[in-house]
Amino acid sequence: MQKDTLALHEGYNSKDGFGTMSVPIYQTTAYDFGTGEVAADRFALRALGQIYSRLTNPTTDVLEARLAALEGGEAALAVASGQAAIFYSVANLAQAGENIIVAKKVYGGSTTLLTHTIKRFGIEARVFDSDNADDLEALIDDKTRAIFFETLSNPQIAIPNLDKIVSIAQKYKIITIADNTVATPVLFNPIARGVDVVVHSASKYINGQGSAIGGIIVARKGLNDYIKGNSRYAHFNEPDESYHGLVYTDVPLPIFTLRIRIALLRDIGATLSPFNAWVLIQGLETLTLRVKKHSENALKIAQWLEKHPKVKSVNYPGLKSASTYEKAQKYFLNGEASGLLSFDVGDFEYAKKILNSTEIFKVVVNIGDSKSIITHPASTTHSQLSETELNASGVPAGLIRLSVGLEDSNDLIKDLEKALG
Ligand SMILES: *Cc1c(COP(=O)(O)O)cnc(C)c1O
Repeated sequence: MQKDTLALHEGYNSKDGFGTMSVPIYQTTAYDFGTGEVAADRFALRALGQIYSRLTNPTTDVLEARLAALEGGEAALAVASGQAAIFYSVANLAQAGENIIVAKKVYGGSTTLLTHTIKRFGIEARVFDSDNADDLEALIDDKTRAIFFETLSNPQIAIPNLDKIVSIAQKYKIITIADNTVATPVLFNPIARGVDVVVHSASKYINGQGSAIGGIIVARKGLNDYIKGNSRYAHFNEPDESYHGLVYTDVPLPIFTLRIRIALLRDIGATLSPFNAWVLIQGLETLTLRVKKHSENALKIAQWLEKHPKVKSVNYPGLKSASTYEKAQKYFLNGEASGLLSFDVGDFEYAKKILNSTEIFKVVVNIGDSKSIITHPASTTHSQLSETELNASGVPAGLIRLSVGLEDSNDLIKDLEKALG
């Protein structure tokens, strides 16, 4: 089935929900096992079924099934936020004394999480240039546990040299984690090009209306075999004392998401609420349509900005002039490039003035909303980064980022025309 169909139907049979067309919200904490034997079987993974909503929930199951299908993965796990999805994916692979390799151009929250916060857990992050990945191989050693990058980075709007990253990772049998939030499963499926794990902030395009926070982790088919006997991932191959000696690689289920669910989510508990799962399911229904319009609007605005005398440069992978144009053509559906663009006006104060002068574009630190958004990363999302880190992550002081919404593109252009003065 095609994505439009999967987004509407996968994972839900109305017969299971009293015939309701809308997926029911199972707003429950726990489940009646009926008998002690059933309870014991579920805990021992001899029978699959609901245990407690920190681990699984029937509404959340539907969201997970849909995203696994849309990404072409084997299994998905929904969590409370994109940040939780990234943390769990990394914590599932690395422990104190080991390292991960992280792209330089990623979301500010990912930079702080991966290079600062988890450093205090003893996991070292080594930073690589994902634009070409020429420095990647030299950073790998026998303690490397994951390579993390974004498929269309926020806010730099860079596209990685994905094929090269994947081939290097496979050479060393390291798991790759791609954040596909901005490209969305509509434009790109990292798994189809060899990526092992895909994460999303579902708070953005998947939700589409800026109404709920959520995160998703999707694992590819065949990842069990990649992990089995792989010395980098001994903890999947050896008994887990916290789960009565379970050896994950002996379990005939997708073990990447399974281990996060029954060990990390069990213990750390950043679970998505059933209500937010339902909100995200509503958003998913129109994702394919929305992404198309976001891409069309963004391209028109990028073309207009490119001709504006006060704009130093425009970064949108749909523009022929963009350094990322070839990669967008190569990787993304019809070369479409989603709704994120940035432009540099060369000056911190002028950028702030523009920010304060738009009417339709709202000053909001979010992306992927149906409503258009304008931000100035240097004074907001990236303000916790040092000057050096700012430049290293490709966010100059005069950079303005737009998340182009679904309004009429002419109205949006008029709004920017007035603000640029
Ligand atoms: C927003 C965002 C995140 C974090 O997601 P939350 O749902 O806000 O926790 C991670 N990666 C990217 C690319 C994002 O845009």
